Amino acid sequence: MSGLLSRDDIQAIAVDLTIPNAAFIDGKFAGSRSGETFPTVNPATGETITEIAACNGDDVDYAVQKAREAFERGTWSKMHPTERKETMIRLVKLIKRHRHELAVLESVDSGKPIKDCMEIDVPETMHCLAWHAEAVDKLYDQLSPSGDDAVGMIVREPAGVVGCVLPWNFPLMMLAWKLGPALASGNSVIIKPAEQTSMTALRIADLAREAGVPDGVLSVLPGLGEVTGQAIGRHDDIDVVSFTGSTEVGRRFLEYAAQSNLKRITLECGGKNPSVVLSDAANLDDVARHIVYSVFWNMGQNCTSNSRLIVHKALEDDVLGRVHDRLKDWRTGNPLDPANALGAIVTKEHFDKIMGDIERAKMDGAHVTCGGDAIEDGKGLYVAPTVFTGVKEEMAVARDEVFGPVLAVLPVGSDDAAIELANDTRYGLQASLYTSNVAKAHRYARAIKAGTISVNCYSEGDITTPFGGYKLSGFGGRDNSLLAHDQYTETKTIWINTGDDHVDEEVG
Ligand code: NAP
Ligand code: MG
Repeated sequence: MSGLLSRDDIQAIAVDLTIPNAAFIDGKFAGSRSGETFPTVNPATGETITEIAACNGDDVDYAVQKAREAFERGTWSKMHPTERKETMIRLVKLIKRHRHELAVLESVDSGKPIKDCMEIDVPETMHCLAWHAEAVDKLYDQLSPSGDDAVGMIVREPAGVVGCVLPWNFPLMMLAWKLGPALASGNSVIIKPAEQTSMTALRIADLAREAGVPDGVLSVLPGLGEVTGQAIGRHDDIDVVSFTGSTEVGRRFLEYAAQSNLKRITLECGGKNPSVVLSDAANLDDVARHIVYSVFWNMGQNCTSNSRLIVHKALEDDVLGRVHDRLKDWRTGNPLDPANALGAIVTKEHFDKIMGDIERAKMDGAHVTCGGDAIEDGKGLYVAPTVFTGVKEEMAVARDEVFGPVLAVLPVGSDDAAIELANDTRYGLQASLYTSNVAKAHRYARAIKAGTISVNCYSEGDITTPFGGYKLSGFGGRDNSLLAHDQYTETKTIWINTGDDHVDEEVG
C-alpha cells in the first residue's frame, strides 16, 4: 500500500488528520465524567497531539451499564449470525476506505514506521476482523453421544460484557485480535487502549457505529492503567477481561478477578524469545534476514522479539557478519518517511529504560558490535539497532525483556546445549529454530517450551493458528484462530430427556 503514497502524500494526510480525543460510550463521543484529560505525544517530535479524556471508575460503571443493557436487549448478542457477520464486514470495508488516515494516525501516535502501518498493521487489522466475521455463520454447536434416551446439546453462548486492556506496541492489531472474536461471538465489548496510543481505537469505534454496531455494544474508554484498567479489572459486572501487556500488570488482573467476581482472565504477556541456529542450519543469508527482522521489527517493541540469538559457535561469525550486513539496510528516523524501516521509541520513559538496559549490558562486560547508542536528531526518540556479543547467560541482557532494538548473542557448543539454553528462561512465548534436518526440526520444536515455534523462519503463525505463551508469557487462553472464541464464550449443556420412562408411567 505504501507504494501508492509518497512522502508528500503522507505529510498532507498528517496535516489534515481529524484527531479523536473523547471517550466513546453508548454510541456517542463525550468527555470523561470528571473532565480530566491526559496528553498523547508524538514521539518523533515530542509535541503533544491532543489531550485525551481520562476515564475513571464512574465512566467504567456507566459503560458497563450500557454494555449490559445492550447485551440483555439482544440487539447484537441475539442478532442473526448472518447479519452480525455483515455488520462486521461493513466495518472492515470502512477501515479499508480510511486505511491511509488510520495508518498515519497510528504512526504519529506511536512512532511506528508508516511503511509498517500501511503494509502490516492496518491490513492485518482488516484481515483479522474479516476472518472472525466470516466465522460467525459457519460455527456449529455440538450434540453429545448420549444414546437414545437423551439429547445432550453443547452450545456456545457469548460470555456477556468483555473488557479488553491493550498495549501500545501494536495498537490496532491488538485491538483486532480481541475485538474480532469478542464481537463475532456476540459480546458487548469495552476497550481500554494503552494511554500512549488511544487514537486509532477511538477512530475504530466511530467506524463501528457507522457500520451499524448497536449503541452500547462497543465502548472505548481511554485512561490510565491504575485507574481505568483497574476499574475494569475489579468490576463486578464484567464477565471476561482479555489483557495484552507486561507480566507484572497481568498478575494484577488475576488479583483483581480473585478479589471481585472471579471474571475470566486471559493474559498475553512478555517474552525473551530465542532464535536458535543449530549446527546444520542452511541458507545463512536467509537465516540472517529472519534474525534481523525478528529482533528489530517495530524497534524491538514486540512481545515475540527474538532478542536472544543462540547460535552454534561454528556458525557464529558467519551468521553475525550477515546480520551486520543486513542491518545496513535498516534506516532509522522519521516514522512518516516511507523509506525508514525503524521509527521512534514510544515514550521518553521507555527510551530511557532501553538506554539504561544498553548501559547495564556494557557495564556487565558485553561487547557492542553494532549500534549501542541513541540516534540524535534533536527531537525524536531513536535508538540504533544494537548487537551485543560476549554475553553471559546470567547477564540481564540475556534474561530480561528489553522491549527495544537490542540483540544478545549467545554461542553454544552443541545442539542439545542450544535447546537447553532456549528453555532457560521464565518466559515461553515464541522461538525460531534454524536447521536443515527435518527430524531435528520436529524433535526440538517439541522440546522448546513456548506457544509458537517457527522453523527456518521467524513467524507468529497467522490468523488461523493460536497465539499465546507458556510460563510467564501467558495465561488462560489463546488469541487468533477459532480457539480465540473460547475466551469470549461460555459452554452450556442442555440435557433433554427423550426416553419413554415418563410415557410408560402415564400409560401404566
Ligand atoms: P503494560 O504496562 O502492562 O500495559 C498494558 C495495559 O495495561 C495498558 O493499557 C496499561 O495502561 C494497563 N495497565 C497498566 N497498569 C495497570 C494496572 N495497575 N491495572 C490495570 N491496568 C493497567 O504493558 P505495555 O508497556 O503497554 O506493553 C509492553 C508489554 O506488553 C511487554 O511486556 C510485552 O511483551 C507485552 N506484550 C505482549 C504481547 C502478547 O501478545 N503476548 C503483545 C504485545 C505486548 P497504561 O497504558 O495507562 O499504562
Ligand atoms: Mg502517543
